[in-house]
Amino acid sequence: MLSGTTAVGPLKGLSARESATSDSLSHPTRILVVEDEALIRETIVFALTEEGYDVEVIPDGRAALDILYRGFEQDGGTRLPDLVILDLMLPHVNGLDLCRFIRRQGSTIPILILSAKGTETDRVVGLEVGADDYLTKPFGMRELIARCRALLRRAQQHRDEQESEAITFKEITLYPQQCRILLRGEEVNLSPKEFRMMDLFIQHPKRVWSREQLLEKVWGPDFMGDSKTVDVHIRWLREKLEDEPSSPQYIKTVRGFGYRFG
Ligand code: CA
Repeated sequence: MLSGTTAVGPLKGLSARESATSDSLSHPTRILVVEDEALIRETIVFALTEEGYDVEVIPDGRAALDILYRGFEQDGGTRLPDLVILDLMLPHVNGLDLCRFIRRQGSTIPILILSAKGTETDRVVGLEVGADDYLTKPFGMRELIARCRALLRRAQQHRDEQESEAITFKEITLYPQQCRILLRGEEVNLSPKEFRMMDLFIQHPKRVWSREQLLEKVWGPDFMGDSKTVDVHIRWLREKLEDEPSSPQYIKTVRGFGYRFG
């Protein structure tokens, strides 16, 4: 555990704990609070803990950066908090830079910024660097909790939407709306053509496609290129997705016809 980090578990016997444990998350909701003013920090921790959240507190920007980079250790692995409450003026690394850092890592964790500054410009800057909400000090704990709940609810809805639209085949998961593919949970970088081909494949497993059909579906009917283009893209896809591209498990060659997925 980091020095300067205080872990506060949920209070026992609170029925409110249920409201803080989301259905699709197997763990209690964990909130990271980065705030250097002791009184505010303690008040927030008390209020959130009473709501049943797992609260982690860090009074300093650099330590926060460290934990956001590595994640919390849990069950032998690491995970990021479900929500981050960030003060703007912090020792070493300020809240805006922390916010930028989180977003640059590609994380969509909900971020609530706390600040003594309440001008419109500060608010705009906060939202521009990727914060989801902004609360000006002084604020009431009921408002803070209501905002946290709303942010967590929105994040959960977003996860549910992503889950419901995802298509999984063996160890590949494709997210059509986001043009993303995960292989064993790891992001695979695909070109737009490669993605369109995978989208087509995964929606029609076992179907045999001729090179001409793939050209028309992926490149469009006006494409004048050679059907060898398809072979080249298939090779690239195999290199990215197959353990052994020379004996593929996903994208198979059907001699005399073309290709088949699965
Ligand atoms: Ca501060």
